[in-house]
Amino acid sequence: MRKLLLIVIASVILLTSCAADKQSVSTEAMDTFMKFEYYGDEKAGDELADMVKSLDKALSVTDKNSEIFRLNSDGSTPLSKDSLRLIKRSLELSEKLGGALDITILPVVEKWGFINQNYRVPPKSEIDEALKKVNYNNVSVYNSSVTLKNGAKIDLGAVAKGYAADKSKQILREHRVSSAILNFGGTIAAVGSKPDNSPWRVGIADPENPSGYLGFISCRDKIIATSGGYERYFDNDGRRYIHIIDPKSGYPVDNDIASVSVISDDGVLCDALSTALFVKGLSGALRYCTENDDFDCVIVTKDKKIYISDSLADSFTLSDDSYKIIKE
Ligand code: AMP
Ligand code: MG
Repeated sequence: MRKLLLIVIASVILLTSCAADKQSVSTEAMDTFMKFEYYGDEKAGDELADMVKSLDKALSVTDKNSEIFRLNSDGSTPLSKDSLRLIKRSLELSEKLGGALDITILPVVEKWGFINQNYRVPPKSEIDEALKKVNYNNVSVYNSSVTLKNGAKIDLGAVAKGYAADKSKQILREHRVSSAILNFGGTIAAVGSKPDNSPWRVGIADPENPSGYLGFISCRDKIIATSGGYERYFDNDGRRYIHIIDPKSGYPVDNDIASVSVISDDGVLCDALSTALFVKGLSGALRYCTENDDFDCVIVTKDKKIYISDSLADSFTLSDDSYKIIKE
């Protein structure tokens, strides 16, 4: 009896200590709310928060003290390892994506008021003028310096959260955290599994009601980035203008897509692709998905269809019957 009691007490202590190990840290960075939940020591969460804040400080296009602000105003400057690495990778991806991703989109994004929240529909002449400055080939990297030509200005908003998700892996490893779900404001890192060894369930927002989910993906050790028209937009004269811009036209994307989620081990790839596949539209995005197999995706269309990569079919659970899963 005494032995049984001791076992019960020991189990209770063990359970409470496991519960106490659950950490939750929230912070604001990159114009969004972030929440990090994990099992491990408190310091890991503080380091994650410091990491996103310092990335934000380097990459911000509005903070006059940021590296990117300095680059955009001076046209040439040495940059830190993080900024350089992210710019180089983004340039490679811009090329691979046929310019649907273009980190020199800033002059156009500014015209639409997405930077200072003074939303407006600019006259076409202004858009065309700003578009002349948009071309990722105007960015050159030499040693640790970046130079911009022809009035180009950089905006890493499409890839920064994915980069933060990639960087988080190292921090978690250093703190021996093997179970975490990190939300970088729409870009999620599902690290390891849940403490009971079951997979993480990551919700895919319902574009028509973004506080709810249309379905869930079960996964382990994956990053999931979502680009949605619902994330930032303004309405004018009965039309919706979203924060994702087609670099070819200079206009906010208005196609058949409502959201794109990309799943892989590589955060920057996920984030870059979620934005660029959105720009490509459904048929272009599906073509790109068939031609490339280093990621999976969930594409939600405005007419409530969900296109899912074959390899994800078993791990996706639909929770809203008004959507229809299409298997290609
Ligand atoms: P995301 O939410 O990851 O799709 O990124 C959207 C953000 O990236 C926008 O708020 C802009 O700052 C920037 N952006 C918009 N369109 C593009 C584009 N075609 N290529 C690169 N960056 C873009
Ligand atoms: Mg993105």
